[in-house]
Amino acid sequence: MCCNDLEQALQNEIIIIMDKSYLEDGRVMNMIDSQFYFRREKENSGYEYYGINYCPFCGMAISFVAQGFSG
Ligand SMILES: [Zn+2]
Repeated sequence: MCCNDLEQALQNEIIIIMDKSYLEDGRVMNMIDSQFYFRREKENSGYEYYGINYCPFCGMAISFVAQGFSG
């Protein structure tokens, strides 16, 4: 990972890495196409996910899209 803060956030599952097409326990709330998501637990109804392209801690491009890869 780009920095220790992101590593920590992934370990604590504040930010998770997943493929959107495998999402089963919630829904993505924004249009950012990424494999990195903030996860928010909703009361009794799964999760909300927010895609992020850039590390919120150090600003590094972390998604494939932000890094310039397509597909
Ligand atoms: Zn970072």
